[in-house]
Amino acid sequence: MTDTPDPRFPLLGVEERRRALHFTSSAPRRFPAGAPLFAAGDRDSPAFLILEGTVEVTVRGTDGGDATLVEHGPGSITGEVGQLAGHPALATGRAGPRGCLAAAFDADHLRALIVGSADIGEKVMHAFVSRRTTMIGRGTGATIVGSAHTPEVQRVQRFLSRNGYPHTLLDTENDTDAGELVERLVTDDALLPLVVCPNGTVLNGPTDAEIGIALGLTPTLDPTACHDVVIVGAGPAGLATAVYAASEGLSVLIVDAHSFGGQAGASNRIENYLGFPAGITGQALTGRAFTQAQKFGAQIAIPIDVSHIQCGGPSRDRTIPITLQTSTGIALTTRAVVIATGARYRRPPIHDLARYESTAVSYWASAIEAEECRGTTALLVGGGNSAGQAAVYLAPHLEQLHVIIRGEGLHTSMSRYLVERIADLPNVHVHTRSEVVALRGPIQGYFQATVRHRSTDVLTEYGISRLFSFIGADPNTAWLSECAVAVDDHGFILTGAATSHANPVTSVDRRAPLETSVPGIFAVGDVRAGSTKRVAAAVGDGAAVVAQLHAYYATNL
Ligand SMILES: Cc1cc2nc3c(=O)[nH]c(=O)nc-3n(C[C@H](O)[C@H](O)[C@H](O)COP(=O)(O)OP(=O)(O)OC[C@H]3O[C@@H](n4cnc5c(N)ncnc54)[C@H](O)[C@@H]3O)c2cc1C
Repeated sequence: MTDTPDPRFPLLGVEERRRALHFTSSAPRRFPAGAPLFAAGDRDSPAFLILEGTVEVTVRGTDGGDATLVEHGPGSITGEVGQLAGHPALATGRAGPRGCLAAAFDADHLRALIVGSADIGEKVMHAFVSRRTTMIGRGTGATIVGSAHTPEVQRVQRFLSRNGYPHTLLDTENDTDAGELVERLVTDDALLPLVVCPNGTVLNGPTDAEIGIALGLTPTLDPTACHDVVIVGAGPAGLATAVYAASEGLSVLIVDAHSFGGQAGASNRIENYLGFPAGITGQALTGRAFTQAQKFGAQIAIPIDVSHIQCGGPSRDRTIPITLQTSTGIALTTRAVVIATGARYRRPPIHDLARYESTAVSYWASAIEAEECRGTTALLVGGGNSAGQAAVYLAPHLEQLHVIIRGEGLHTSMSRYLVERIADLPNVHVHTRSEVVALRGPIQGYFQATVRHRSTDVLTEYGISRLFSFIGADPNTAWLSECAVAVDDHGFILTGAATSHANPVTSVDRRAPLETSVPGIFAVGDVRAGSTKRVAAAVGDGAAVVAQLHAYYATNL
């Protein structure tokens, strides 16, 4: 029997090494035994192709000691997906007992190798993605110290999970060492959780923005740079725009207020996206797109909220760049903008909802929520496909799930395959012509939900551990209120011919199909009026808008 090679650790053959050496950022260098090639937390640390000797890669364990991840030998390349963007290293690499000879590839040269040499690029990309996946599985990376039941810990977990950043939780409720550590170091609960970065830096009760900076998810942006295009929103539409634009040589910056993936990233199984007959999680699908965008050199900055566009309106001077104001205070300058800010979940009109929102109400259903609710009874509001997917995903974890819908039945609003799956789940109970009107009781543990039957007015009480809500979404366009980009009555952005109603233009000045009422500002995906609210449609918009960007640059700048 032959051993199947481990795709995480491919070896380049002699001829491949020779070709790879054309792309190095510096000449091969000899490292004596034990000398560091890179250290966890180092920014812009290159990947290394090992030519002679070995490199031992270690990570710091939760006990503070070093754990060996792998020993690279000749033909192996160190690194993982973070190296594509110059993100801080997650591990430390030292020359083995007989030293090593290694050639470095900084982020630019690494991407040039991957794009310029397709066969080597395929091996390296497979290796990097599967190494990151392994690290996520092992929890190698950041360590969160705090109580798993607190909203703050769950927020940090969610932020890191959604951004594909490996982490582990030391739950102070179960781990006595962690509990003692917190007692010693933290005097104020507001400073929890602790987040220990791979380089040992400890953050006390950090915001998502502070974590993003400390872990290198948010790069240092150059305020003097003028990008070809800034894409606002890293959901499927924004990521597709980034992949196509960067692969066609444009300088691309993509920013997102929370994480890559957008709404799709919250989907536990997308079954209708072309090419994935077994379905794929939204996180996996958009994680691939995120890595792909980085491979082509798109710069990605998360979490950064764009709060305002200074654009000069429909008759703006197209030779003057557009400025975007961000939550970091940095203004971004660009020749064109693609708005891909998608939509945001709608809040159900339930009395006292706000009191429960930080602890017991979810607008998504991830593994974290499923684990939190394991073996309990929960209630889910909504009858669309996202509600159906969530019900199918959650049901095996729950004792009972009550699905509350206002309509006559699921068949009018949900795909047939989901309706059939729900019908097969014995612990899912669908309540038609019903609505949740009030929540009562403690905000943690079991509380009461009052459900009203809309025809009979009969009120029924359910003891539940969590309320899930999937009742649709509104466009993320409030931030455009001071800008002249025209929107429809529901706030979705008008593009192409539709802009002429809001803002009559001459035939000479006609907008491209995905261009807004303001020249040089484009809109794609769910945020666009009239778009089909599906991943494939958002991705299609992303591909199409790049051709329109080229046409815009050719005629206007
Ligand atoms: C639970 C769920 C399941 C779904 N399942 C499916 C499915 O099975 N099949 C399917 O085809 N579709 C599905 N959809 C719909 C699909 O996810 C959306 O159509 C798609 O995600 C739209 O992509 P988008 O990029 O246009 O917007 P979004 O995915 O909404 O992404 C927008 C991004 O913009 C960011 N953003 C917003 N405002 C700002 C700002 N001011 N500054 C910076 N960033 C900002 C947000 O953080 C977000 O990441 C599902 C949706 C949900 C919620």
